[in-house]
Amino acid sequence: MVITLEPSAPASLVSTVEQMAGRFPGVTPRTHVFQGAGHRLVEVHLLGPTHEVPAEVFERLPGVLRVVRVSLKYRLIGRHAGDDSPVGFDHNGLRFDDRTLHVIGGPCAVESPETIEATFAALEREGVRTARAGAYKPRTSPYDFQGLGAACLPWLFEIAGGHGIRCVAMEVTDPRHIDEVQSALAKTSEPTSVMLQIGTRNTQNFELLKAVGRQTLYPVLFKRGMALGLEESFNACEYVASEGNSRIVFCLRGVKSGLAEPHRSLVDFAHVPVVRRKTRLPLCIDPSHSVGQATLAPDGLPEIFHAVGQGLIAGATMVLVELHPRPELALCDGPQALSLDLLPRLASYARLVRSAYEQAVAAA
Ligand code: PEP
Ligand code: MN
Repeated sequence: MVITLEPSAPASLVSTVEQMAGRFPGVTPRTHVFQGAGHRLVEVHLLGPTHEVPAEVFERLPGVLRVVRVSLKYRLIGRHAGDDSPVGFDHNGLRFDDRTLHVIGGPCAVESPETIEATFAALEREGVRTARAGAYKPRTSPYDFQGLGAACLPWLFEIAGGHGIRCVAMEVTDPRHIDEVQSALAKTSEPTSVMLQIGTRNTQNFELLKAVGRQTLYPVLFKRGMALGLEESFNACEYVASEGNSRIVFCLRGVKSGLAEPHRSLVDFAHVPVVRRKTRLPLCIDPSHSVGQATLAPDGLPEIFHAVGQGLIAGATMVLVELHPRPELALCDGPQALSLDLLPRLASYARLVRSAYEQAVAAA
């Protein structure tokens, strides 16, 4: 059972609701606060045998907006009946929601100050303030480049800050990486910030999920499991929220299938409206790991652009895309990296498709 309070409800209502709920045997109340730009949503979730708990008891209280019996397991990230609560959150001066378009661009892996400098300078020229770059790379083979690790973080963050990048999506594969990120940011006086990325290989690494959920300094970019159904991925994502961090972006990145050939993954962006209907999370698409190659279509647009279009025309607002100054020299995922000269075209293409989506919704 989820009890949502009116935005204007007094703080004392939370303890009233919690005390009343605690009187039912076996029922434990847990309060969650969702903080957005212009709104603050407070929900008291009742866990345990709530079938005996009458909704009317809470509905009668002044300041209670609604009471919903939830059957969804992923009760925190899930969208409940009648739930039109605003999607999204703020981080380091940026808004991540279901309206604000972001291209989150950069190399798969951090390789050298020179490649980061060139890439982030290109982002700055396009007015892009969100980047990606991996210091900890989960590779299929132990003999492949594993990333530079914590050592690169201070200069990575300094270069990011120098180019006006306010948030870097950074995959973490072990809870200790969170501390390494935090101490590198502190050491460099926070020139930028980070969104902790959970990669598709770690979608069900539950201890890692709990660790990124226990901290609330950084939001989380959560990738769908490449071999998991949506429901399984939502339940895994709920681990993050259930530990207290509700600032999550859900990311579709294609699923593993022999039928994906010649692409790396089968593009799953037809699931964009499904994720938006079933969860209240802002939604990102990753066309790079879906398509897996920077091939041009006969119309002259890279196939990756067409995947971007499929995700954005369906209502996603963020595009996580791999860029590299010299894709042929990249130490990780070079074949799918777009060269920097394509960035202006990508950015304007993304704006064009987003605006087509907005027109389509307005017309409907
Ligand atoms: C990545 O974004 O670099 C990455 C490894 O993605 P995924 O986890 O989707 O494979
Ligand atoms: Mn990659």
